[in-house]
Amino acid sequence: MTLPLNIQDSFTKELPADPIYENSRRQVHNACFSFVRPKRPSNPSLIHASPEMLEAVGLKGFADSKEFLEVFSGAKVLPNSNPYAMCYGGHQFGHWAGQLGDGRAINLAEVEYNGTKWALQLKGAGETPYSRSADGLAVLRSSIREYLCSEAMFHLGVPTTRALSLVLTGDRVLRDILYNGNPAYEKGAIVCRVAPSFVRFGNFEILAAQKDVATLKALVDYTINHHYPHLGTPSKGTYLKFFKEVAVQSMHMVMHWQRVGFVHGVMNTDNMSVLGLTIDYGPYGWLEGYDHEWTPNTTDSANRRYRYGAQPQMVLWNLLQLANALYPLIEEAVHLQEILEEYQEEVSIAYVDMMKSKLGLSESDANDPILIADLEKALQSTETDMTLFFRYLSKFRPNDSVSDGLNLVQEAFYTPDAVQGTIKTNWEAWFSGYAKRLQKETIGSDERLQAMNAINPKYVLRNYMAQLAIDAAEQGDYKVLEELFNLLKNPYGEQPAHEKWFAKRPEWARNKVGCSMLSCSS
Ligand code: AMP
Ligand code: MG
Repeated sequence: MTLPLNIQDSFTKELPADPIYENSRRQVHNACFSFVRPKRPSNPSLIHASPEMLEAVGLKGFADSKEFLEVFSGAKVLPNSNPYAMCYGGHQFGHWAGQLGDGRAINLAEVEYNGTKWALQLKGAGETPYSRSADGLAVLRSSIREYLCSEAMFHLGVPTTRALSLVLTGDRVLRDILYNGNPAYEKGAIVCRVAPSFVRFGNFEILAAQKDVATLKALVDYTINHHYPHLGTPSKGTYLKFFKEVAVQSMHMVMHWQRVGFVHGVMNTDNMSVLGLTIDYGPYGWLEGYDHEWTPNTTDSANRRYRYGAQPQMVLWNLLQLANALYPLIEEAVHLQEILEEYQEEVSIAYVDMMKSKLGLSESDANDPILIADLEKALQSTETDMTLFFRYLSKFRPNDSVSDGLNLVQEAFYTPDAVQGTIKTNWEAWFSGYAKRLQKETIGSDERLQAMNAINPKYVLRNYMAQLAIDAAEQGDYKVLEELFNLLKNPYGEQPAHEKWFAKRPEWARNKVGCSMLSCSS
């Protein structure tokens, strides 16, 4: 049986290739990618395939076929395809890191189905010219985290790359999870990621750094023609429109992150999609206690550069790097600068709008920013579960008393006894202000409850939930993985049979590796 994939490669056909075919680690010049073959897995097996993505790429009914397993474990190359690794650079934690590239991602092909184009990419399928000092592989725990989270994000309405399949390779992979000199063997795995494009800010940055304006132009033109065709024929004006569009899409993405409490963890420019998709699920995490300072990434614990509250500004910093990379094609800094300034203005407005929607406020009121700032303070005055808080808040009615309000959200406090003294007074003041503000609303309480529950998720992939799926999967039991995969398809709905997942993080998970502490080791 042959997989019915309609291969329509354009990236490799329209952009310059690295002329060297040998799979050796090297600096690549005047090219956007290198041809490369996946590593043969020793004993592959399929753990899971996403029914929605199978359908989307035209593989419904094929997940159990021998060829599906062969192709998506890297054992077999699709006929008429030429797998490749992309060349990109990046700013990592604020510093230019030079060439990075797909060190462990191999693009299999671009396919078209029902008028939509998708790039299929294996993550963890072996080394490439960009693997630097690493092995090109991925372990089961990080692959489960990527697989579950990308599908969960999609169902939350957050722009994201998707996941088609999760396979075990049958090979063992050595990792030092905490970088503390205790390496151990783990199960190797591969996720097949799917997106219209995996091009990152770093793809442009590397070409600008190499002063290769011809290839840079080719890549920008390609990206506009294929992914932003409505911007028109490439020209200086179109490049500016392109930059503006990337800024808007990236802002849109990060506002969704703030809305659902997602912290990416490694917002380096090599992890910023030019389509504004959430990409590269590594040491990401979900806010449990609402905390602007929180980051799940232990590698970033000293500076907290990529903490929750800083994410919108980090997007701006990354856009500045993209602006620098596009500059050689535009040669006028002033308009690029204007777009960055617009981001700054628009992101504050977008943030207030997003928070207002979480609070169920549809009218405008000059004091809304203060109401939001006071809420942020109160939420951080004692550990308060973000997801639970907003779900409970939707039941609050304009005529409710402040103590009704506190009772409604009681379960969201990790230490209910801490809600006393000034903390309690501040909460009461906030509920009193919120009740008054609600009186200015024209929509009724039931309608507001529905609107709030449609944007404040009930179920998110809490850090400990992913870890439970991982612990079971390490023992060969995929039931939790399956349960979470299905649960997170309907994150805003009531799912009475799964109510146990609508709860605070259990205490055992507070300081557990994988739950609150994650490193880049994956
Ligand atoms: P990340 O922190 O996952 O975004 O990765 C940063 C860079 O390191 C990218 O160029 C990755 O391809 C590369 N990388 C990460 N892990 C590995 C690995 N195990 N083998 C080869 N390259 C890797
Ligand atoms: Mg990356």
